Amino acid sequence: MSALESVLTCPECGFSKRETMPVDACQFFYECTACQVVLRPRRGDCCVFCSYGSVKCPSMQQQCGCET
Ligand SMILES: [Zn+2]
Repeated sequence: MSALESVLTCPECGFSKRETMPVDACQFFYECTACQVVLRPRRGDCCVFCSYGSVKCPSMQQQCGCET
């Protein structure tokens, strides 16, 4: 069972927002609702949730199984 909600924290302004993750796709871009900066995944990460979210994306959760 994967967690489908992640709290994204903007690295620019520190704003946090709970977002529902797509189950079958990786989200590459995310626009911060507070400062409108467009976030992209960091090197080595597959999506913005892996880089900036409180929970990694569903596909990473399934690959690893060790995430809390
Ligand atoms: Zn922001």
